[in-house]
Amino acid sequence: MPKAVSKESPRLSPQLYSWQQKDWQQLLQYQNTQKLPHALLLTGNKGLAKFELAILWANTLLCETLSSTECLDSNTTACSHCTACELFAANTHPDFMLIQPEEEGKAIKVAQIRELVEFVSLTQSRSNRRVIVISPAESMNMNAANSLLKTLEEPPENTLIILVSSKPHSLPATIRSRCQHFPVSTADATTMQSWLAQAGQYSQNDVDLALSLTENSPVNAQFYLDSAILRINDELLNDWKMLASGQAKPTAIAEKWLKQPENVPIRLVYTWLVDMIRYHSLNQGYNRPLDDNARVLFYHKGDAALQKLAISIPVKRLFVIYDKVIEILKLGRTSLNKQLHLESLLIQWSLIAQSK
Ligand SMILES: [Zn+2]
Repeated sequence: MPKAVSKESPRLSPQLYSWQQKDWQQLLQYQNTQKLPHALLLTGNKGLAKFELAILWANTLLCETLSSTECLDSNTTACSHCTACELFAANTHPDFMLIQPEEEGKAIKVAQIRELVEFVSLTQSRSNRRVIVISPAESMNMNAANSLLKTLEEPPENTLIILVSSKPHSLPATIRSRCQHFPVSTADATTMQSWLAQAGQYSQNDVDLALSLTENSPVNAQFYLDSAILRINDELLNDWKMLASGQAKPTAIAEKWLKQPENVPIRLVYTWLVDMIRYHSLNQGYNRPLDDNARVLFYHKGDAALQKLAISIPVKRLFVIYDKVIEILKLGRTSLNKQLHLESLLIQWSLIAQSK
């Protein structure tokens, strides 16, 4: 019996997050009406816990306590104590297969998809259905995707394949067109704030900043809040100010920033620029402190040095840098010339900030 590809499978203990209630109801609706798609493509930004949602649903579909229940209400999830749930948690349920890259960041290989093809050719062992989760689906290399395509074209009976992807456009169109699409809900501001408030003791400023740096992805925001990433803001902002005063070399700063976690420096630059432009638009010149109504608009509430720097540079020039930052953010992780883009941004900033 082919099993999950990961050699040391972590225990699968899925949970439902507060912003997933609506999605969960819809998934249960498939289950209640016995109209499961053959292949479901779960899409949405990183950090929305799509993988956890897929795993929880797979577990719930295979849970033996629930199998005899006619209609599941919206709070129902897998029982976590029946034999099927125990097998699932150990990633040894014979009717479940999890396909992930063997190493983080690497491709899902064709050999892994061949295991899937063999798996779906067998009869189910315990359950009346079979569930496969592929995550992140865009990690499949071309051969793997082609191999999966054949299975999607002739879907096996009683089998659900859940593809999880933050970048569905990186999947071949032929794969996408054979899946039912399920864009997961994003979390609204209130839900995210209250979830983060329950998850730990964070200041409102830090929560706002973490959410903005992670494009409103609560799970990633929590990671930022619990790690040193927010604390590097002050250090990087200092570099940014040194560049503006000609006390640092753009290439040296670029080299240093490239060692920081993916995209964090550029997202921080974005928040500084937005704040600087807001100082201009609110006419908050000459170090006048922000009033309470204005403070809420700023990522970095009332950073006096940032305010002073903002006022020293005409807003038109700030927009030039802002446009450049947006351009780099759009390139995202696909960019092969990260260093080049960052260097060019920092050189431009240093020139603009120093020109009279
Ligand atoms: Zn169960």
